[in-house]
Amino acid sequence: MLSEFELIARYFADPAQSTGAVGSGVVLGPGDDCAVLAPSPGSQLAVSVDTSLVEVHFPAAAPAVAIGHRALAVALSDLAAMGARARWCVMAISLPEADDAWLAGFAEGFHALCRVCGVTLVGGDVTRGPLSITVTVHGEFPAGQALTRGGGKAGDVLVVTGALGGGRGGLEAWYAGARELDDPLLAAYLLPQPRLAAGEALRQLAHSAIDISDGLLVDLEHLCSAAGLGAELDVAGLPLSAGLVARLGEAGAHEAALCGGDDYELLVSLPAARLETARQRLAALDVPLTAIGRLRRAPGIAGVDAGLLRNGWRHFPEGAT
Ligand code: ADP
Ligand code: MG
Repeated sequence: MLSEFELIARYFADPAQSTGAVGSGVVLGPGDDCAVLAPSPGSQLAVSVDTSLVEVHFPAAAPAVAIGHRALAVALSDLAAMGARARWCVMAISLPEADDAWLAGFAEGFHALCRVCGVTLVGGDVTRGPLSITVTVHGEFPAGQALTRGGGKAGDVLVVTGALGGGRGGLEAWYAGARELDDPLLAAYLLPQPRLAAGEALRQLAHSAIDISDGLLVDLEHLCSAAGLGAELDVAGLPLSAGLVARLGEAGAHEAALCGGDDYELLVSLPAARLETARQRLAALDVPLTAIGRLRRAPGIAGVDAGLLRNGWRHFPEGAT
């Protein structure tokens, strides 16, 4: 069995595993009492933390590589929602035993996403206990340019990146016995892709943004209340994840898209005149962008069947946060 220090040295302490340290702004990485970081001149830091707990946020039997990827992805999604460029992370892991094969898979999933997103792992903590991973992410944007939840204006078009419902659809697929990560629904659930490039591309076009972690309706509610506005939705036009209708049926797919959690797409409001530019920028990144409604002065969310709303809560009760 590895000691704590061997484990850290082997799997987590080499910043080159995540990005290669060149240009990464790491003055001092793992190995001292703190990491020392150099933010870009003129930038502000965005900081966020998320905990992923076994059997609450992911199944214990999920592939280790997916657990590593997902723990980082859900944290990075918050940076994407602010239009921040991801730079650094620290990761605290509590685990029941130091299983070498499991740790190798976990570290591979974590570091691979670090590399894709340009993030360097600069420190953390290891303790023994029930499997739980807490990731703090640091991003940056030019001073004053944070994309917040509260900037929406009446008349703004509401758009979402990617497709919805895959988080819920993938969870159902897992419990139905699906185990192959190339199943698109299972991949949507276990390997969500944080929309960092899209968030940065939209930062100067958008009035407001949030990432969809708790379900479209819940997160739209947050966007609306932060702006003091209501919204109307075009439910028939929601972009649905591949394979969702086949697994859940038409009505179930729409419920999953509206009320299921774990999609990690961006919900953004922007002036209608900028919609085409936004589409083009995201098309260049290979990220679909779909208009799904508008912000309006009248409170509440129109266009969603009230019965579906109520049933939605029964079928998809809010999970633990
Ligand atoms: P301390 O006792 O001073 O908090 P630790 O012994 O916990 O330090 O950690 C030693 C070094 O290893 C620190 O620099 C810490 O940031 C790094 N480290 C510990 N756990 C991790 C991890 N999960 N990921 C990355 N670095 C880690
Ligand atoms: Mg110390």
